[in-house]
Amino acid sequence: MKRYTQLYIGGTWREAQGTELITVVNPASEGFIGEVPAAVAADVDAAVSAARAALPEWAATSPAERAACLKRLHEKLLARSGEMGELISAEMGMPLKLSQRIQAGLPPLVLNSYIELLEDFSFSERVGNSLILKEPIGVVAAITPWNYPLHQLMIKVAAALAAGCTIVAKPSELTPLSAFLLAEIVAESNLPPGIFNFVSGFGDGAGEALVAHPDVDMVSFTGSTRAGKRISVVAAETVKRVALELGGKSASIILDDADLASAVKGSVNSCYLNSGQTCSAHTRLLVPEALYDEVAAMVVATAAKFTPGDPRDEQAKLGPLVSAQQRDRVRHYIRQGVVEGAELLLGGAEAPADLPVGYYVQPTVFGRVTSHMTIAREEIFGPVLCLMPYRDEDDAVRIANDSIYGLAGGVWSGDAERAERVARRLQTGQVDINGGRFNLQAPFGGYKQSGNGRELGKYGLEEFLQLKSLQF
Ligand code: NAD
Repeated sequence: MKRYTQLYIGGTWREAQGTELITVVNPASEGFIGEVPAAVAADVDAAVSAARAALPEWAATSPAERAACLKRLHEKLLARSGEMGELISAEMGMPLKLSQRIQAGLPPLVLNSYIELLEDFSFSERVGNSLILKEPIGVVAAITPWNYPLHQLMIKVAAALAAGCTIVAKPSELTPLSAFLLAEIVAESNLPPGIFNFVSGFGDGAGEALVAHPDVDMVSFTGSTRAGKRISVVAAETVKRVALELGGKSASIILDDADLASAVKGSVNSCYLNSGQTCSAHTRLLVPEALYDEVAAMVVATAAKFTPGDPRDEQAKLGPLVSAQQRDRVRHYIRQGVVEGAELLLGGAEAPADLPVGYYVQPTVFGRVTSHMTIAREEIFGPVLCLMPYRDEDDAVRIANDSIYGLAGGVWSGDAERAERVARRLQTGQVDINGGRFNLQAPFGGYKQSGNGRELGKYGLEEFLQLKSLQF
């Protein structure tokens, strides 16, 4: 059990001013594993003023000086990577082996990509008689979700610090322990005090206090579309920049000339990764009508191998969902799918028979799903895959784009040019062709209600910069 009563502000640990505590639950055992403060407005004020005080000096550092600081952080982060993987698996339920590789493994790679970018990114350029300066936007509030808790936070921390901004981070109330560990690592890294500050708390408390704060210049938010809308409204009062990374309902299109075995394997993996709790999960699988029966049988056989189980069990491929509330939401969607007439091909709303404790949901596949059904329209955030038959290429593109979201997607075809042609027609921020790998240098972000921000690589750095032009 980890108990924290202090917050990391201005380079020191300070007693939180709020008295309310947040309990952290292990979703596999349902036991308490931690207790952290629910920060109040006074804590947020202290964190923002520490970030503001540190800004002039940090913004004036050279890219090389910032890279040197980030290198120290990178070294300390790597040293505690094993501990981080275990902690994240315990607080949000991803199978331990995957958690070590993804939850703990990805953030140092992200941080390193910004250290490297600082070597050749130009913070100014000449255009005609103007000198264009790319200056840090200022104090950044970073508000993050629980599904990839350290990764989401590190994307923002690395890019904002590299840009010369200072930061106040508020992680999800469901997974604050990994952020406390990050704050400990920051404290060990001997960074200039006040460039990274951290408050734990609820969205409607510490979160909104940060968003409304007149001394915060920008909010970088990753989370639900519901919270993103509210944050936009609150932030509008002070006209601060808001970058939103929100939900998704991404489609994977199998074209009729695709290698079906890899298309099915890749699509099911994408949907079920992290028990379906991935914003860019390919949750709608679009299949040509002529191949529908064959693909459906292959999908069910592949999905059935995703055994739910304790994250510490090597055989487990699906951990529990993060909370009882999330599990109940997903089960509700499964029942709704049945009521609205989708064919339940695998799984269902009942808990897996051998797992009476923990927030588990069976791997579930629905067949013959149509666009008007709730399970095809709303983000479920659980291990639920929707198979949707289509007539021809135009029909597939129409179905894929028939969504308020536009975060990610996939196209599978034996003809790379054809796949690219289809990918270009998708209204979405990313498309993986034949299972194309995640690229830390490529922009990640949404079209439509999936958000308006772009993270990673130079695009992620530019989010935290503002432009000034000097005319000569
Ligand atoms: P959430 O919106 O409930 O919470 C996210 C964060 O916002 C938490 O820290 C929460 O405390 C805070 N928050 C909530 N309401 C707030 C408010 N009014 N003001 C300020 N802060 C507030 O989301 P979640 O359930 O933690 O995460 C799941 C969602 O995140 C899914 O919709 C998923 O698609 C999305 N997500 C998107 C991306 C992306 O890059 N596009 C990545 C991961 C997750």
